[in-house]
Amino acid sequence: MPILPLPDPALLVLIGPHDAQRSAWAKAHFAADEIVALADCRRLVADEGEAAAAGREAVALLDDLVARRLAVGSLTVVDAPHLTPGDRQPLVALAKRYHLLPVALVFGAPDPAALAREGFRRVLALDTAQPVTLRREPLPPNRRDLSGPFDLIGDVHGCFDELLLLLEQLGYHLGERVTPPPGRTAVFVGDLVDRGPRATAVLALVMGLAAESAALCVAGNHDNKLLRQMQGRHVHLTHGLAESVAQLARETPEFRARVLAFLGGLTSHYVLDSGRLVVAHGGLKESLHGRDDLAVREFSLYGATTGATDALGLPVRLNWAADYHGAALVVYGHTPVAEPLWQNNTVNLDTGCVFGGRLSALRYPERQIVAVPALRRYAEPRRPFLPSDSQG
Ligand code: MN
Repeated sequence: MPILPLPDPALLVLIGPHDAQRSAWAKAHFAADEIVALADCRRLVADEGEAAAAGREAVALLDDLVARRLAVGSLTVVDAPHLTPGDRQPLVALAKRYHLLPVALVFGAPDPAALAREGFRRVLALDTAQPVTLRREPLPPNRRDLSGPFDLIGDVHGCFDELLLLLEQLGYHLGERVTPPPGRTAVFVGDLVDRGPRATAVLALVMGLAAESAALCVAGNHDNKLLRQMQGRHVHLTHGLAESVAQLARETPEFRARVLAFLGGLTSHYVLDSGRLVVAHGGLKESLHGRDDLAVREFSLYGATTGATDALGLPVRLNWAADYHGAALVVYGHTPVAEPLWQNNTVNLDTGCVFGGRLSALRYPERQIVAVPALRRYAEPRRPFLPSDSQG
C-alpha cells in the first residue's frame, strides 16, 4: 500500500465535491476529534433562520474551531467541499497565522500549481480506489522524545581551544574522539562559525558528535549565512564570514561537502524533554515553539527585531524574553552579554567568547552554569557588552 507522508501537526484541507466519500475517507484515516466537518458545524447552527445565513454561521464556526485547534498545535483535518479558492483562502490564512503548513488533500486530479499559488505548501492527490497508509512525520524541531541530560553551549564562533576547555570542564573525554559523560548530550545554540580562529575544527568536532547522536545543534544566523555562501548565493563577507570562508578553503572538497550537508540540515530550533526545554539561537516566543515556517526560522535566527537599524547599523532588537511567560525553559544566544542572562524562564548563554568574554554552558536539568574565559580577544564587539569595555 502506498505511504503518504504528512507533517504533524499541520492543517489538512480536504478538497472534493462528494460529501459522503470525503467524510468516509476522513473518518477512516483520522481520529474523530481531529476532524472538523462543515456538516457538523451546519447541524449545530441551522436550527432557525434562512439557509444562507446559517451557511455563513456554519463556516464562521468551522473557522473558529480550526483556529483554536491550530493555536494549541493540534493536527486538524477540515472536511468540507472547498471547491473554490474563496472557500480555501481563510484556511490558508489560518495556517499561516499559526505557523503551520496548509496541506491540500484532493479527491481526483488536483492542479498543484494553482493550489501552490493559493498558499498550499503541499498538494496530495487521493484516489478512493487506491488505499493508502498515512505516515505522520513530526516536524524537525520536535525532539520531545529526548529528555537529556543536556549540556547546552553558547555561541562558539570558531573558538575551538575554549570549546575543548569547556568540554573538559563538563567532563567530556577528549581523545581521538570526544565523548560525553554517559547519557549526556551536547546542545549547541548555533553560531559555530565566523570571527574566531578555528571554525573548521569546531565544525568537525560538532559534526562528529552529531553523527554519533552525542550532540544537537540549531542554526545560528552566522551558520545560515555561511550556508548561503557555500550554496553560491551572494552574501557579503562581513561580520567574520571572511575568516570562515578562508578557513574552509584550506579543507578538502569532501570536508566542505560534509559542512554543506550539516549546515543545510540544521533545524530552526528544538523542542526537547517533553516540551520542557526549547533551544533557539535568537530565542523564540511561546506561540512559535514546535512550529516551523519562515517566520519561525527568522525569529529563531535573529530574535525579535523591529526591522529598523540603529546608529551602529545593527538591527534594533526587541526584548522578547521580557514578555515570555511560557512553561518551557528557552535557552538561546545571539546577543553577547557579560554574564548568562536569566529573564523569566529564558537564559542567554552567549557570553561573547570570541570578543574576549567567556564560553558558557548550562547543565540541564541541573541549571548549573559552567564557563571558561576566552584565551584572547579575537574580534572587537560593535556594541560593548563587557563591563571593562563600558568603563572605557
Ligand atoms: Mn553569535
